[in-house]
Parts: sequence; structure tokens; C-alpha cells
Amino acid sequence: MKKLLLSCLAGLAAGGAWAEYPEKPINLVVPFSAGGPTDKVARDLAEALRKPLGATIVIENIGGAGGTLGATKVARAAPDGYTLLLHHIGMATSPALYRTMQYKTLEDFEYLGLINEVPMTLIGKPTLPANNYAELVKWMDANKGKINLANAGLGAASHLCGLLFQSTTKIEMTTVPYKGTGPAMTDLLGGQVDLMCDQTTNTTQQIDTGKVKAYAVTSAKRLAGPVLSKLPTMEEVGLKGFTVAIWHGVYAPKGTPKAVQDKIAAALKVALKDPDFVKREEALGAVIVTDKRINGPEHKKFVEAEMIKWSAVIKAAGQYAD
Ligand code: ASP
Repeated sequence: MKKLLLSCLAGLAAGGAWAEYPEKPINLVVPFSAGGPTDKVARDLAEALRKPLGATIVIENIGGAGGTLGATKVARAAPDGYTLLLHHIGMATSPALYRTMQYKTLEDFEYLGLINEVPMTLIGKPTLPANNYAELVKWMDANKGKINLANAGLGAASHLCGLLFQSTTKIEMTTVPYKGTGPAMTDLLGGQVDLMCDQTTNTTQQIDTGKVKAYAVTSAKRLAGPVLSKLPTMEEVGLKGFTVAIWHGVYAPKGTPKAVQDKIAAALKVALKDPDFVKREEALGAVIVTDKRINGPEHKKFVEAEMIKWSAVIKAAGQYAD
């Protein structure tokens, strides 16, 4: 209510219209550390949005608690179109994982459109002796109880994928949470953690340059491209039903004027077709959304369905945080 009032007052102050929006840089909150997969998508998108939206987009990384800290900041921000959120699947998984949430996923945001879907890769530290999945199985069997698995906190994609990996292989690992898989990757490269499941947008380059060991991809079919096509799918290595795709979407605080929402949504549609953005996403194994989920209402329906789907998986795994 208070937000709506603020939004109306702001509208009146601007002469009752938002025709001039945007008149200053827009803050795009990324709820994970800089240098990670979600940050990479956000920075590429910000570049592609600059022209159609007619504004500079400044990325603000607010990592921690699986993305819920950054999302809280946006849920509480002024609904004036100058604070937006780019979040991933954690938007749908957090409500099942956190007993106390500072925002309501379906009520506190305007849904502006889905951007992409990104598969994940299972990777290992460079000094790991296993060079393929069969060798990894042997190494894991020999090291039971001592294996560290990095993630970006409860509700992050790396957490969900790691959860699925442990339940499918029936090998329990010690999970090490970070504020994003950007810093987790630094520790993996340094050998402080053993394994990580992370989005291709963060791992393709490291795999290509041989800086990490790569074992499998989480897509249903093998991926395209010179780097990722060499990796087997999780199904191929014997992990039946192990498919994970991480989606990203853009959100505004609830009460953001419709005219502003429409401007951002229209600019997003242009950005998703930007040749440089398309090329960059393809090279990193991401698939740009082209179906109706690029529209706010369908984006919201999809998130709602994902919340139901993941809530069942998470409850079955008995995962919670306060
Ligand atoms: N998307 C997170 C990041 O950018 C990683 C994750 O979800 O696992 O760090």
C-alpha cells in the first residue's frame, strides 16, 4: 500500500507521466558475487539493454544467502524503475529453503521477462587425479567422507545441482558455501575445494583453457560448441534423470508504474535479439528464451510452477535454513 502510494506520488511529481523514463542510470542488482555466472549474464545484458532502454545500467552485486539478500533489497526499493533485479532459479527455490524470508516471491515483484536457460557442468580442481567421470567415481569411492563440494549458498543453482549429485550418487559431501560461484571458482582453482557444479557461463572458459577438470553436463542432450560438445551428459555417465537448467529473469519492485514496466520489457525483447549478446550467450552454452515466457505474465506463471516443482524436491531432501 505504502509502496503504491509512493509510486503514485512519484508519478505525480513527474507530471503524472513516465514518458521521460529513464532519466538517470539504472541500478541492476545481481544477488551473487561479481565474476560469477549470474553476474556475467547481467553484465552482457546490461550492455545489450543500454541502447534500447537509453540508459546506463550499473550492476550492483549483493551476494549471500543464496541470492535472498539481493532480492530483499530490490523488494524494498522505491518502485520507480531505477532499481531492478536479475535473478535465477533461486527466485523459485528460496521459499522452500528458508524458513524466514524478507519478501514474498509472487507478491513483492513485477515480472518483466525471462532471459535465458543455462545448463551446468560438473567440474573438479585441477590437481584432481580423475580425468573423466569413470575415474571420478573411483576417486570419490576412495575419498568418501573427505570430499568438499563448493556452492553459492542455499537456493543457488550450484547448491541444487550438488544436492542432486549427492542424492543420485549416494555419496555425501561437505558443502562449502560462498557468496557466488565467482569466488568459489577461485578456491577450486587453488585446490581449496574439490568439486563444484556450476553454470556453463562460468565454466566454459576454465574448461577450454584446461584450468579445471570437467566431467559432465546437466543438459538432456550434449551441448554444441567446441568446448562443451566434448563432455558427456549426466545421463550418459549413468546418472539417470539428472538434468538441470538454470533460468534467469528480470524483476522490478512491486508497484513500479506500468508505463515503466512496459519500457523495460520492450527493451528486454530488443536486447535478447542483439547479435553480440546472442553470440556471447551461445559461446557460453546459454540458450536465450524465445517463447512466451519473455512476457511478464508467462514469466510469473513459470516461476510459480518452478516453485511447486522445487519445493517437492527440497522437502524430500530435508533442506532448510533459518
Ligand atoms: N548464480 C550463482 C552465481 O552467480 C551461482 C549459483 O547459482 O550457483 O554465483
